[in-house]
Amino acid sequence: MIYELPIKSTFYQFIVAFIALDFLEYVYHVLMHKVKRLWMFHLVHHSDRVVDTSTVLQEHPFETAIRLTFLVLWVFVTGAGFWMVLARQFIQVISNVFAHANFRLPEKIDRMIGTVLITPNLHHVHHHYQQPYTDSNYGDVLSIWDHIFGTFRRLEASKVVFGVDTCMDTRENAVFKQLLIIPFSGYRSPLEQTQTPAAVGQEQYEGLYQEEPPTPTAITA
Ligand SMILES: [Zn+2]
Repeated sequence: MIYELPIKSTFYQFIVAFIALDFLEYVYHVLMHKVKRLWMFHLVHHSDRVVDTSTVLQEHPFETAIRLTFLVLWVFVTGAGFWMVLARQFIQVISNVFAHANFRLPEKIDRMIGTVLITPNLHHVHHHYQQPYTDSNYGDVLSIWDHIFGTFRRLEASKVVFGVDTCMDTRENAVFKQLLIIPFSGYRSPLEQTQTPAAVGQEQYEGLYQEEPPTPTAITA
């Protein structure tokens, strides 16, 4: 597709390929949230209670396989050349590390950059434990798709609670073996608004999942 367009400049061909692939990555991310079977794998990434650069690596191996399969499909659909895909992947890795980083841009700068790019501030909202924020800011490198398709949201930093409401128990989301099992343990519906930290307080909320406090043995088991 890319090489059939009436564009002679290699640079502009790359820009078109980059934007097309970024849109398809947005579609991929929406599918991972909206298709229940796929979400059960993707929630492993969302279950991290402390979002930082290491969160990029918290991904179920099945999701890695699904992601790579989709990437091959997107390359086939766009007809992007090998070097274009490689260059985009390089930019994507930097962008993803930046988006998960444990810092926030000053509000004014974030509002400027966030018009086009996914910032840590915006991606942190995506990692908020509760809907509708979990299903927002799906953008990979560009945030324009969220603006266009109405999935763009902001939330004050002080109100962001990392995690996913159906998997807040650290005995589950901090244990490697348990993380691998989560996708096979059945679909869990998002909690009612009344069962949230905002409604009952974080401590009591944790109690909804933990009859006993986790012990060091439980965490390292
Ligand atoms: Zn996600």
